[in-house]
Amino acid sequence: MELKKQFAKLLLQWNNNHNNRHMPWKGEKNPYLIWLSEIILQQTRVEQGLPYFLSFKQKYPNVKHLAEAAEDEVMKLWQGLGYYSRARNLHETAKNVHINLNGEFPGFFEELIKLKGVGDYTASAIASFAFGEKKAVVDGNVIRVLARVFGIDTAFDTTEGKKRFAALAQELIDDDEPGTYNQAIMDFGAVLCMPQNPLCDTCPFQKKCVAYQQNRIDDLPARKKKIKIQERYFNYLIIKNNSEIFISKRTGNDIWKNLYELPMFETAKLLRKNIKESIAEYLGTTDFDIASYCEGSVQLLTHRKIHPQFIEIEVKGFKKLQLAGAQRIKLSSLNSFAFPKTVLSFLKLKNLV
Ligand code: SF4
Repeated sequence: MELKKQFAKLLLQWNNNHNNRHMPWKGEKNPYLIWLSEIILQQTRVEQGLPYFLSFKQKYPNVKHLAEAAEDEVMKLWQGLGYYSRARNLHETAKNVHINLNGEFPGFFEELIKLKGVGDYTASAIASFAFGEKKAVVDGNVIRVLARVFGIDTAFDTTEGKKRFAALAQELIDDDEPGTYNQAIMDFGAVLCMPQNPLCDTCPFQKKCVAYQQNRIDDLPARKKKIKIQERYFNYLIIKNNSEIFISKRTGNDIWKNLYELPMFETAKLLRKNIKESIAEYLGTTDFDIASYCEGSVQLLTHRKIHPQFIEIEVKGFKKLQLAGAQRIKLSSLNSFAFPKTVLSFLKLKNLV
């Protein structure tokens, strides 16, 4: 029999007999909790996202609680998870659902996808898990499984590839149990057909898997684009006395929007020479001394590499200092602000949080 016709059956059999991947949101029917888990898991490993899901679920057990929370509080709870636009969209969508949709998530794909931060994948997941709609999810795991089993070498990061994988996924999805099928194929990709060293010897598709039969496992799925990494150099200033410190909020349309950081100026290269002059230009005064200087660890984001350095300065007349775009806060309250990992690691190192 043609593999396409057998695919869902074999996958569901594997799911019933061998899949023991446990996750607290598995089998969940509450669309709020499904949505929450899916947003948290976008571009995030399960082990990393799990404690965040549990914290959010505990603190905001329903969409009303999340909608009524302060944005700074939501960002603080998200701290360390990265891709912070997800947290902003999460909060905005919670408010939208609470205020405009009477606290109810829409019951089908076409409406779910209109919510901010909800793309094809998340809308399909909520629609199938919560409402039993026959909408196939397509994530990295699904693409890998389909590319290998069916020998698809169209690059998945092209318009043609996206269409092709979406169409095939939709063709294969089980009629009766779309939610279980969707979860099963993602689990299959995560625990059996992994990117490296897939467990082909225990795979129910082995005899028909094109990648296995043609020895092309490492070549599939195919990718077209190489991600171009931009190098950025952030110079952070620690301006404090025994009880207060300056921090600033990132408000521009850039990475880490709405997170807090130390006052910072960016340079085109690592600042090695004329450090004092550059700081003076940023501060608008020469009335300070450099007390210490250290390079932070490089943080790799999807498209950027952040090279931070931290310069502690002693400003004469600290009490009167005004810094555009920055605010003076109590050192003891530093812990209530959400910082990107780079800054947080430094503050921890200095025992400031
Ligand atoms: S045979 Fe190997 S490569 Fe093919 S689907 Fe199974 S685990 Fe993946």
